Amino acid sequence: MKGKYIMALDQGTTSSRCIIYDRSGRQISIAQKEFRQIYPEDGWVEHDPLEIWSGQQEVAREALRKIFASAEDIAAIGITNQRETTIVWEKDTGRPVYNAIVWQCRRTARLCDELRREGLEEPWRQKTGLLIDPYFSATKLAWILDHVPGARQKARDGQLLFGTVETWLIWNLTGGRVHVTDYSNASRTMMFNIHQLCWDQEILQRLDIPLCMLPEARPSSQIYGETDSAVFGSPVIIGGAAGDQQAALFGQACFREGEAKNTYGTGGFMLVNTGDKIVKSKNRLLNTIAWGLDGKVTYALEGSVFVSGASIQWLRDGLGLISSAAETDELARQVEDTAGTYLVPAFTGLGAPWWDPYARGALMGLTRGAGRCHIVRAALESMAYQSWDLMKAMSDDMGYDISMFRVDGGAAANNFLLEFQADIIGQPVYRPVCIETTSLGAAYLAGLAVGYWRNTEDILSNWQLDRRFDPRMPELRRQELLEGWHRAVERTLRFSE
Ligand code: ADP
Repeated sequence: MKGKYIMALDQGTTSSRCIIYDRSGRQISIAQKEFRQIYPEDGWVEHDPLEIWSGQQEVAREALRKIFASAEDIAAIGITNQRETTIVWEKDTGRPVYNAIVWQCRRTARLCDELRREGLEEPWRQKTGLLIDPYFSATKLAWILDHVPGARQKARDGQLLFGTVETWLIWNLTGGRVHVTDYSNASRTMMFNIHQLCWDQEILQRLDIPLCMLPEARPSSQIYGETDSAVFGSPVIIGGAAGDQQAALFGQACFREGEAKNTYGTGGFMLVNTGDKIVKSKNRLLNTIAWGLDGKVTYALEGSVFVSGASIQWLRDGLGLISSAAETDELARQVEDTAGTYLVPAFTGLGAPWWDPYARGALMGLTRGAGRCHIVRAALESMAYQSWDLMKAMSDDMGYDISMFRVDGGAAANNFLLEFQADIIGQPVYRPVCIETTSLGAAYLAGLAVGYWRNTEDILSNWQLDRRFDPRMPELRRQELLEGWHRAVERTLRFSE
């Protein structure tokens, strides 16, 4: 087998990155490039697909150049990506017919209302694991077919192709020869039947989406094809792909049922491995395909928090209370507690398990003694409370407790946060050395496909603990704090209705 390294392409919402890994899971080289965010109207978000493709090539070449490596040094490429973002392009020319409609874009809210009124939420949820929402690709794709002149007819005639971002990248990397998606990405389109692993005819029919424009859905770890020689000089195998959150679950080596990872980024994402079961959620959590590997499909329950680390950004940029995110750790420790203060960062409503778009943020329980450190501490604590809410919803749905709670994301660097998180969930929190779990997960999936790593045991032995945080808070105090949090949340619900 040729190739000393695995290359991960990490195509995120604001930047394209390339990270090169060695067999021990160590980063050997990294390159990153931001790209334009396009806001044509209030609530609309777009990207230029050609800019994504050119930027991704640039960072890949730069990452190779930095270590004087070439295509021959790469055993395989793995891809991870912002999920749900929708691209439609011409099969013959590769030209996008419209900008990429980004997952955040709310332009199809009305169509989603209509679908819900038609009573489609429950049947579609049964099939796709998702709730009807503009986030997911289906209504974005329908919008493009409805609004770009002639698009639907061209699509019917087989002249247009649809893809989420990994599909777009693989198609371009292979010089237009391979049109595939992986199961984890397919499961975010709201067109994919996650039980039968195929595109759903009924959904396609309702939205008038021609099947012939959809990619073939494949396992997440598999040789999809080789890069065109024009890309890196000589061909490189493309060995895997997964959506960013699922890739992170894989990168965290959460291979067993009941193991979860929690990401503290701008928003927060918790996924728990539910094995081969699709757990029906009573708390409006989503079912998603974690990955397809070795002829098996693994499912996950997913919940998200809209504002997690973003509340720390708000302390810095909105309030001017801090000058850097990192200093919050020390500031929070300067006080014993928040003196009864709670920050509910419902700036854009609340996600699972509340699902209230009309909730608005609040700083509550203030007394004359409350100062800067109390507020900073309340912001960090709110990140932990929100994760507790997700975790509780998940355990409720699964009927048993999460067995392993691993963390990553930018704010997982904060020790105070993780100590408090352990206290609030009443069980240990594990932080790995490598918190770049998303790209690492993509690298692992690709490496497994070409035998660079033999099996998940190899990967598990790469997972290295940086620190374990153990709970120390008395149970009574924990209950008291959680009660306070829930009283505060209660008061923010439906505020702007
Ligand atoms: P994303 O990939 O979602 O853009 P990152 O995983 O890079 O975000 O995390 C960045 C977020 O984490 C920011 O919202 C920032 O405020 C927060 N953050 C970064 N470092 C810290 C820290 N030491 N303590 C608390 N929050 C932090």
